[in-house]
Amino acid sequence: MDTARIDWHARAAALAFDGRAFIDGARVAAADGETFACRSPIDGRSLCEVARGRQADIDAAVASARRAFDDGRWAARAPAVRKKVLLRFAENILAAREELALLETLDMGKPIQYSLSVDVPAAARCIAWYAEAVDKLYDEVAPTGPQALALVTREPMGVIGAIVPWNYPMIMAAWKLGPALAAGNSVVLKPSEKSPLTALRLAELALDAGLPPGVLNVVPGHGPEAGEALALHADVDAIGFTGSTRTGRRMLEYAGRSNLKRVYNELGGKSAFIVFPDFDDLGRAAKTAAGAMYFNQGESCNAPSRLLVHEDIADEFVQAVVAQLPRYAPGNPLDAATVMGALVDEAQMSTVLGYIEAGRAEGAACLAGGQRVRAETGGLYVEPTLFDGVRHEMRIAQEEIFGPVLSVIRFRDEAEALSLANGTSYGLQASVWSSNINRAHRVARALKAGTVHVNQYDEDDITVPFGGYKQSGNGRDKSLHAFDKYTELKTTWVRVDGA
Ligand code: NAD
Repeated sequence: MDTARIDWHARAAALAFDGRAFIDGARVAAADGETFACRSPIDGRSLCEVARGRQADIDAAVASARRAFDDGRWAARAPAVRKKVLLRFAENILAAREELALLETLDMGKPIQYSLSVDVPAAARCIAWYAEAVDKLYDEVAPTGPQALALVTREPMGVIGAIVPWNYPMIMAAWKLGPALAAGNSVVLKPSEKSPLTALRLAELALDAGLPPGVLNVVPGHGPEAGEALALHADVDAIGFTGSTRTGRRMLEYAGRSNLKRVYNELGGKSAFIVFPDFDDLGRAAKTAAGAMYFNQGESCNAPSRLLVHEDIADEFVQAVVAQLPRYAPGNPLDAATVMGALVDEAQMSTVLGYIEAGRAEGAACLAGGQRVRAETGGLYVEPTLFDGVRHEMRIAQEEIFGPVLSVIRFRDEAEALSLANGTSYGLQASVWSSNINRAHRVARALKAGTVHVNQYDEDDITVPFGGYKQSGNGRDKSLHAFDKYTELKTTWVRVDGA
């Protein structure tokens, strides 16, 4: 069916929800029967009750994952077999795309057009890409002397705890599940309490594809309950975490307090978008800045939330960005034309509005937006907001807001631009816009960020690593490098007599 003609409101009204956990291949209630309400930020309505996972549920899920790992029902299968199952899993995701997109939109408020065109295909492609990769990886024989043979092999780690956020629930889950499952691990996935529904459905689709029971368990619940129990668990070998830098610190503490499990943190950002006056298409740069900033309601870890503009072009450039803003006026995410949807929950909305207040109080000029809108719908919508006259030390220049708020900072020369760009605790992403090839390369090299874009911000692919410098995290999601997180390297020395 032509998806542009779907009546998503009608589909939403007819959709069935299941908020139970997924443990050992089956849907189950929490051990103590407790639930929490899952509300849609679109209009505040209750979607369903979700199992409130706690210690007992995490214990059951980890035990199931451990049994599945130890008996080799998945880890000991040939890579080509794992590939087939995971390719079927990816196909199942695509076959369920309308249902998954709708669940994602209802649960966290992003426009249905993007759930459908971005989130579902990206999650499927990620799973398929790791499936395709896994039977093409070779181990190593080290170049030692003739009297011995040294094999360097990769082995799955065991039980992986995956703890993910709510801004791209399916994609973040897929970035963990793809490499972890392809490598042969078992996984316990803890989705955000703000967006648990698609992760639970993914587990069913994986089972239908032939993933043996116990290899993938999903336990919804709150961070300090299910999340903490999983990260502290003595039988979990590694945590693949994506979320805030604040929680990332805790992950390291949990590992220190328990079994020194590996911790891979993918954390926050305050990415710089640096525009030099020598760039020859400032109109495209302005359009890209707005598009990247306000996509997903500004709830993207790599949103270019600091716009650094050379003072000679700043007035003109800022006006060009402001001119883009009406396109991002919030609308009902179930309407096919909506480009910006609802913020995920009340807490996130009040954080965003609090930063807008802080920006005003610290003396920045709010040139556009700054208000909650559509409150009469019961939904959580904030206008695309732009602050000019931001100084580097202001909170809106230093702290991650994670909402549709852009801060403009002016600079005089290249050295100042670099010092501003690198002058936060984050280092996730950055971009430089210049038609001078030497400057573009020079600045790109000097930026302390896991990903640097030159004269664009949109390129993205599963083939490239994603992650941060400094307090934006460690390790990398995506690409073959992600296998490093979910495998151990083993050296096996074999004596060769008579050589
Ligand atoms: P968060 O840290 O509040 O929560 C992330 C996950 O951790 C959730 O599942 C949550 O339940 C769990 N959690 C929270 N407190 C916990 C605790 N005390 N113990 C154990 N688990 C706990 O982050 P969020 O608000 O869900 O997500 C937004 C953050 O994620 C932003 O900082 C954003 O930049 C970051 N993010 C980073 C990337 C990346 O790849 N670097 C991608 C997406 C989002």
